[in-house]
Amino acid sequence: MSHRKHEVYEKDKGKCRYCGKRLSIKNHGKTGSRGAWQIDHSRSRRNQGTDHLNNLAAACVACNQEKGGRNARAFKAELRARGVDVPTRKKKGFLARLLGL
Ligand SMILES: [Zn+2]
Repeated sequence: MSHRKHEVYEKDKGKCRYCGKRLSIKNHGKTGSRGAWQIDHSRSRRNQGTDHLNNLAAACVACNQEKGGRNARAFKAELRARGVDVPTRKKKGFLARLLGL
C-alpha cells in the first residue's frame, strides 16, 4: 500500500476528500498526529468497492472513522446537511487526463 499512499495523496492534493483539511503525507495512518490520514474506499469493500485508484480517497482520520463502511456519496450528503464545506472535485476533461494534468 505504500506507493498507493502517494498516488492517493497526490490525487486528492494532500487534502481530506470530505472536509478539505490539510493532510501530512508522512503521517499516513498515524492517528493522533498532525495531518494524520487514512486511505478511504469511496465505495466500501463491503459494497464490492475495489482497490483501484479511482475508488480510493485521502481522508483525515476523523472523517474516515465517521464514514465507516458507508459510501462516499451518502457520507458527503450528510456532511453537507450539517453545513460542512465538502470540497467538490471538477471532472477532468479527456485531454487533461491524457496529459496527466
Ligand atoms: Zn476530513
